[in-house]
Amino acid sequence: MKRFGEIRLPFDHGRSEFERALAVRGIESNSTWRILRKSLDARRKSRIAWVYTIGVLEPGDDDRPVPMLRIAPDPRPVIIGAGPAGLFVALWLADHGVKAVILEQGDAMPERVLKMARFMRLGELDERSNLGFGAGGAGAYSDGKLLTRIRSPHIQFVMDTFVNFGAPDEIRYLADPHLGSSRIRRIIHAMIEHLQSLGVEIRFRNRVDGFEMHRGQVSGVQTEDASVLSASAVFLALGHSARSLYRACADVGVEMEFKPFAAGLRLEHPVARVDSIQFGKHAGDPRLGAARYRLAHTWDVSEGKRVLYSFCMCPGGYVLNATTESSGVVSNGMSNPGRRGRFSNAALVVNVEGRDIEGDGLFRGMTWQQNLESDARRAANSGGGCHALPGQRLVDFLASRPSTTIEETSCPCPVVPARLDQILPDFIVDGLHRGIETFERRMRGFICEDAILVGVESRTSAPVRLVRDRETRQSTSVEGLYPVGEGAGYAGGITSAAVDGIASAEAFLRTLPEKG
Ligand SMILES: Cc1cc2nc3c(=O)[nH]c(=O)nc-3n(C[C@H](O)[C@H](O)[C@H](O)COP(=O)(O)OP(=O)(O)OC[C@H]3O[C@@H](n4cnc5c(N)ncnc54)[C@H](O)[C@@H]3O)c2cc1C
Repeated sequence: MKRFGEIRLPFDHGRSEFERALAVRGIESNSTWRILRKSLDARRKSRIAWVYTIGVLEPGDDDRPVPMLRIAPDPRPVIIGAGPAGLFVALWLADHGVKAVILEQGDAMPERVLKMARFMRLGELDERSNLGFGAGGAGAYSDGKLLTRIRSPHIQFVMDTFVNFGAPDEIRYLADPHLGSSRIRRIIHAMIEHLQSLGVEIRFRNRVDGFEMHRGQVSGVQTEDASVLSASAVFLALGHSARSLYRACADVGVEMEFKPFAAGLRLEHPVARVDSIQFGKHAGDPRLGAARYRLAHTWDVSEGKRVLYSFCMCPGGYVLNATTESSGVVSNGMSNPGRRGRFSNAALVVNVEGRDIEGDGLFRGMTWQQNLESDARRAANSGGGCHALPGQRLVDFLASRPSTTIEETSCPCPVVPARLDQILPDFIVDGLHRGIETFERRMRGFICEDAILVGVESRTSAPVRLVRDRETRQSTSVEGLYPVGEGAGYAGGITSAAVDGIASAEAFLRTLPEKG
């Protein structure tokens, strides 16, 4: 494929300008070309531009290798978790002739959607089926941003799969592809139906509580009804909130280590404010959509580096209560396709290292997250319940004073005034102060009366890593166990979790004889 990069056109260009730009580069109108990449450059507000890379196709460019079928093992492989990692393991295996069984503690999609609606309206939490657990895992209620920093040939397969199940073609080339929460749910639901039609068995409301072992090798899993399911391999696609399963892994000697993560708060501004900071006179132009930002500030501390960074920005989105346990509350964010909400939110988080937490236990990060979440719940609602999130106006947080009221937010759950500056540990409060002041210098108007902080953003990534061999991708201590995705500590989002699942499925397939 011949590539033509840096084709720069004003953001409001029309089709004829686009065709002229191709002609100028010698791309003939009868050639077969494809947009390989399209990104918005808004660094100069007076010259906001789309930047394209075009590929002109040559014979053979679209040829795909035919998957090599393998002899299916008996018993079947078991996948724990129906999030992006687990679903892509199942799809990759099925494409190679191996039908796995997926065990998912939460509900199938229709029941999960009803339970989520009840939680958002009434605060009735099902600890098994919520924003993090159930068909599609956390991915099903995510914002559906597909950008990843990893490099892998499997990324294309993940995008193609999403397109096959209903995503727009543009996710294949946009620099910052976004599906939106309502759409990624539909896509994942279609993918699950497809897997079932291929013979993959998915058992919902089926929680794994332990493992069967035979001579250092995993031979099956114990489910909550005390039954045992034998397995030729077990894929642990458990997600970063599977606290009881982490402990069950430690009980059978799975090698694990503490993993640094990040924690902080979610910040919400009116869309109009972020738009006017980022787009100037073009703010509100529908061709630009709601504006984004990505900010980071790093500084030295005696023990190393500290960084405050924005994370999971959701322009035109909603702040959510993402708790999975009634003992605590957790904030997160999402948007729907088109990003047409009236607010824009992003997490602002500080890195949390082993040295920041007392003790040296493997699960100290997990316990630290849990304690922070229950402090946040108490601050938001001293009477109990995990429906309301604690909030504080940004200007009050920076002045270390209480907010008397919280004006309107995008959150479907209540947001009540609380002393977020007193809930968080000092190093995070200090990091937020330093970082937000530097962000204000880069984005004038970032600190404003109508910005609200909501807490707590504690589930940014897994607090442990399940150590695995680079080549075989199996646990270094338990043969036949494949830790995958975000919960195992090897991914940080939908695309990377999916890619990680595929790479481990491939490693498992290499252990099976070829068919025919
Ligand atoms: C509100 C929100 C917005 C997000 N937005 C984005 C975004 O825009 N872009 C992005 O890339 N990422 C986003 N994420 C993160 C993304 O969803 C995760 O990175 C991704 O889902 C991780 O995939 P996974 O398969 O590794 O784990 P998960 O999706 O967490 O799935 C793990 C599954 O395992 C199941 N499980 C756990 N324990 C057991 C057990 N004992 N027995 C049976 N099943 C079990 C869980 O119920 C869950 O369904 C967002 C997350 C949230 C919550």
